[in-house]
Amino acid sequence: MISNSHSAPRTLAPADAWLKRAACRDVEPEEMFPDSDAVRIKFAQTVCAACPVTRACLVLALRAEGKAGRDSRYGIFGGLTPRQRHRLHLELRKRRISP
Ligand code: SF4
Repeated sequence: MISNSHSAPRTLAPADAWLKRAACRDVEPEEMFPDSDAVRIKFAQTVCAACPVTRACLVLALRAEGKAGRDSRYGIFGGLTPRQRHRLHLELRKRRISP
């Protein structure tokens, strides 16, 4: 059956609705990809520290990155650097835990 609804289409699936609450929505995207600049990394982590959806973000990042090596991970997600996420990935894998 074809719907006659005139309501606005949903832009986010319910499972992704948490993205609307992301603290990084208010900063320039490149600020969350600071490379190896310590000051910029700290800034991005400060943004994440004030974010109400850190856990969901980190889970999504870990799932998206899969088995990627530490040099194939980019940006700050869930407050963690690529290296920190890689270490967490290895630890979870060792314990046979899926993110
Ligand atoms: S945890 Fe950080 S990167 Fe993830 S949504 Fe929140 S502010 Fe953005």
